[in-house]
Amino acid sequence: MRTIDKIYIDGQFVTPHGTEFGPLTNPATEQPIGQVLLADEVDANAAIAAAKRAFRSFSRTTREERLAILRRLSAAFTARLDDLSNAMIEEYGGPRSFVTAVMPKAALVFDEAAEVLENYAFSRTQGTSTIEMAPIGVAVAITPWNLSIVFVAEKLASAIAAGTTIVVKPSELSAIQTQIMTECIDAAQLPPGVVNIVTGRGAVVGEALTTHPDVAKISFTGSTAVGQQIMRNAAGTMKRLTLELGGKSPSIVLDDADIPTAVATALQAGFLNNGQTCFAGTRILAPRNKLDEILEAIKSTVPTLKVGDPDHADTAIGPVLNQTQFDRVQGYIRLAREEGATLLTGGEGRPDELPSGWYVKPTVFTDVTNQMRIAREEVFGPVLVVIAYDDEQEAIDIANDTPYGLQAYLFSTDVARARRMASQIDAGTVVINRIFGAADAPFGGFKQSGIGREHGTHGLENYLEARAVTV
Ligand code: NAD
Repeated sequence: MRTIDKIYIDGQFVTPHGTEFGPLTNPATEQPIGQVLLADEVDANAAIAAAKRAFRSFSRTTREERLAILRRLSAAFTARLDDLSNAMIEEYGGPRSFVTAVMPKAALVFDEAAEVLENYAFSRTQGTSTIEMAPIGVAVAITPWNLSIVFVAEKLASAIAAGTTIVVKPSELSAIQTQIMTECIDAAQLPPGVVNIVTGRGAVVGEALTTHPDVAKISFTGSTAVGQQIMRNAAGTMKRLTLELGGKSPSIVLDDADIPTAVATALQAGFLNNGQTCFAGTRILAPRNKLDEILEAIKSTVPTLKVGDPDHADTAIGPVLNQTQFDRVQGYIRLAREEGATLLTGGEGRPDELPSGWYVKPTVFTDVTNQMRIAREEVFGPVLVVIAYDDEQEAIDIANDTPYGLQAYLFSTDVARARRMASQIDAGTVVINRIFGAADAPFGGFKQSGIGREHGTHGLENYLEARAVTV
């Protein structure tokens, strides 16, 4: 059992003014592993004040000074990658194979931001004007519990490259990961106040940060419902917004695809991180003339995916985050049956050999229409649907018939055909015969999956404002 009772303001680990403790639990055992002392509005205000003081000098630092900071951050995160991975496995059950594959990104994002910064023209001439790209002011980053470290690192990297100071409110459910991440940031010896970290509840610290008049920019990753609330909060003072929200991504298997490979990859994309991934491919669209073959492949592949202790190297699917998430996922499995979907594999309850831990049976439904709630709402657990289509146009129509538009997957042996379809799909990222987009490509969503893009130059420009100076 550990107690996390410090937040990070003005370059110091300090005891929060808030007095509420939040519980920390291991999802694989359901046992308590610690508690976190939560920040409150007073702490949020202190963090913003520190960021505002630091902005005056940090916004005037040179490119070289900021490059040096980014390199120190990359080294500090690299030195703690194992600790960060272990915390992520223990605190939210990310399977070791997945966690160790993605965690290096927490350090790489600083190198990528440095590369963009090295080549970025902060001042350009346009006609009779000079366009100056100026640091935007105090920024706020609010992040979810899944992949928390990578999301925070990404936002930090871009903000620092831009010369902006930042207050981070990570999820109160990722406090152990946050603690190690804060130690990395402290080790990188940034000027005080450039990065401040206040773990607290969304309704308390999140509300205070997103309504504060001294905040110029909010970069949020989380659910669409909270994104909408943040947009309303931000309207009063016209804060700039980047919103990375939910998804219900289609995995379109074309009739020329190699079915065993396509199904194996589509299942991996759907069950990624125990199904708790914003860009998970949760709707598998299957051509009717290959439907039986695809269903057979799913039925024979899913039982080969090992569900169990996330710390084991061969585990494909670990537990979901907590009791609330488990109950929510079970509710969606029941709902799908009530809506008339046919259970292909999985179903309600825990796997027989796992009587404790928040383990969900990897579940796939067929005979699903795109109008059912199981096809429209984000489940955030290992539950997928198969929807049959007759021709390419119908596949595109179904793919686009969703409030979301984060990512889409296409599986085909004819890349030119897949590219043609890709350009008709309303999604921020379309991947062909793979799971992840390119690291340097912009990332973000169409429609209710968000506003704006992160990564690379797009990421940097999230923290800049254009000033035209004309003589
Ligand atoms: P969430 O929206 O419940 O919480 C996200 C963060 O917002 C947390 O830090 C929370 O404390 C805070 N928050 C809650 N209410 C707030 C308020 N009123 N004001 C300000 N902040 C508030 O999401 P979650 O359950 O932590 O994460 C899962 C969700 O995140 C899923 O919907 C998933 O799709 C989404 N997500 C999106 C991306 C992306 O890049 N598009 C990535 C990961 C997760």
